[in-house]
Amino acid sequence: MATLIETTTRNDWTREEIADLFDLPFDELMYRAQTVHRAHHAPSEVQLCTLLSIKTGGCPEDCGYCSQSVAADSGVKATKLMDVQAVLQRAAEAKDAGSQRFCMGAAWRNPKDRDMDAIIQMIAGVRGMGMETCMTLGMLTPEQAQRLGEAGLDYYNHNIDTSPERYGDVITTRTFGERLDTLENVRSAGINVCCGGIVGMGETRADRVGFVHALATLPRHPESVPVNALVPVKGTVLGDMLADTPLAKIDDIEFVRTVAVARITMPLSMVRLSAGRESMGEATQALCFMAGANSIFTGDKLLTAGNRGDSADAALFAKLGVRPMEAPEPMRVCEAAE
Ligand code: SF4
Repeated sequence: MATLIETTTRNDWTREEIADLFDLPFDELMYRAQTVHRAHHAPSEVQLCTLLSIKTGGCPEDCGYCSQSVAADSGVKATKLMDVQAVLQRAAEAKDAGSQRFCMGAAWRNPKDRDMDAIIQMIAGVRGMGMETCMTLGMLTPEQAQRLGEAGLDYYNHNIDTSPERYGDVITTRTFGERLDTLENVRSAGINVCCGGIVGMGETRADRVGFVHALATLPRHPESVPVNALVPVKGTVLGDMLADTPLAKIDDIEFVRTVAVARITMPLSMVRLSAGRESMGEATQALCFMAGANSIFTGDKLLTAGNRGDSADAALFAKLGVRPMEAPEPMRVCEAAE
């Protein structure tokens, strides 16, 4: 008898339910993920986003995976905040290349009030081009979030990174609770939330269950859920720990399972394949799309890590019959999201 597949949005997932999803036979998991995906999203459409580092390196946080931390010996040079016009030029190029969303990232613990005017001008300029705006600037006070919301920022990215239990092994300079506080400030300001994390940091399956559970039980699911595969960078804590241990790399099938479980538990969210795609085979990416991933970063560079490049993506899309999403998701979708 066919199993009835629930496609509605819930925020009361238990860890046991999520662990059971991870444990499903792969074909059953994929079938459920596809069913949920097709109930809410156009199949064969993938959103294209472009990411630009507007202020690189010299970050006082100690995220163990990040080459931009002052704690990392990665050779990344610290820069100042980019000039507004230079950012807008890059946004225009991204739009010409087909991007629907322009994401701007600054390696800060939190933005300084003196930087806010330039940030606001960037938001206004990119929105004026008809693109969605997303920023990731570190922790936000309620007042800063409010200013960004009033400026029309569409999305704010702030990742929980991993499970609450594993979190302290990866970052010590700010707590899991502080991450949730910033997410709350972003929500209160009426900005859509982009929040996900990284797998392949040496965590266990139980941590991946805890990571998805933390996202899927937020009072409102993030509108975007980036799922990254760790890119081990020499000089970072995790890069040095894992780079020479090939077995530590996340197993492709386990990565696809994580994407599928994110899709099933957060049916309305855009699930984004983020870092780690450069080293991912085409077949694995195809499985991720089948599992419900419907957003990618374009270009040949993320904040500092490499990415696949537009021509490789176009070739893969052509092979798979995947189309770039034509219109952005409705802006300011908070009210309608659930
Ligand atoms: S991930 Fe962000 S907050 Fe953490 S060290 Fe890197 S730039 Fe700083």
